[in-house]
Amino acid sequence: MTTAIDFAAAPATDLALVPGTVVLDEVIGERGPWSGVVAAGDVLTIVDLYGNQAVDTLFYGAGDHAKRYSAQATIAAQGNIFLTTGTVIRDQEGDPLMTIVADEVGNHDTVGGACSQESNTLRYGHHTRHQHACVENFLIEGSRHGLGKADLVGNVNFFMNVPVDPDGSLGIVDGLSAPGKRLALRAEVDTLVLISNCPQINNPCNGFDPTAVRVIVTRPGV
Ligand SMILES: [Zn+2]
Repeated sequence: MTTAIDFAAAPATDLALVPGTVVLDEVIGERGPWSGVVAAGDVLTIVDLYGNQAVDTLFYGAGDHAKRYSAQATIAAQGNIFLTTGTVIRDQEGDPLMTIVADEVGNHDTVGGACSQESNTLRYGHHTRHQHACVENFLIEGSRHGLGKADLVGNVNFFMNVPVDPDGSLGIVDGLSAPGKRLALRAEVDTLVLISNCPQINNPCNGFDPTAVRVIVTRPGV
């Protein structure tokens, strides 16, 4: 029998992928939303505390919410649909918002989109209509920043495994992540990060059991 490491209790300085002064350390509860501004130069480490937890994420210019994440610009610039170390998270003008500077998983999705009450009903049946979903998390948390439905664009799904078959079809399959797996994003400009810790229970994106994740922001060189 192995003893599991308690990543929720580990010191933030041990978990941050880029060392520095810890300026933020919060747990995002299972199924819950989160938002925060990561200042230019600071590094956001996201920890998949219990493994296989999709972290739906959107990015906006902190000073100008009209600057927002663009999956198209991000994919086109790097010539690859998967996000990993070296990926520059770009806005619709192609300007950098953040850069993935470390990644313990290998690839992250940005074509699968966010779950919603409507898409759940379509995919999984009307009995799922009442279930909480990522779009609702984005709307609840985004409203704190004056963001509404028109501001939601195609998002990143960190820790979500969406392979593309040779014929171009997508699948949402068992994750590549595991307890304690992390990735780190360095802000290139002051960036508002909006997260839905995905509540989905109808497909394997959360191992059918949504769990908490942890966000740590470090300021290197201080
Ligand atoms: Zn979701």
